[in-house]
Amino acid sequence: MDILDRPPLDKYDFSRMVNMWEKLILEIIADMVERHEMCECQDCVLDTTALALNSLPPRYWILGSYDAFCPPEKFTEDSMNVRLAEEAVLRSYQLVQQNPHH
Ligand SMILES: [Zn+2]
Repeated sequence: MDILDRPPLDKYDFSRMVNMWEKLILEIIADMVERHEMCECQDCVLDTTALALNSLPPRYWILGSYDAFCPPEKFTEDSMNVRLAEEAVLRSYQLVQQNPHH
């Protein structure tokens, strides 16, 4: 059973709670795979994504309620955040390449 199906958690909408780095990291990974800049096997893509996410400070947002004051784009379009995400992916992929699981 999924933990979120367990009462009383099942009455809360946790899908509104998102890791803001995840969107940035996955966009960068998608671009790299499309451009054939990284191994596109399951192991390398998931390992690189997990390593990159683990290397960044967690940034969870609750979507919906406060979007007017603090829209999610404020985070994902911030050039500093984009650069940090790119650096994290490149660093992580270098590590994965040194010891690939494929
Ligand atoms: Zn691979």
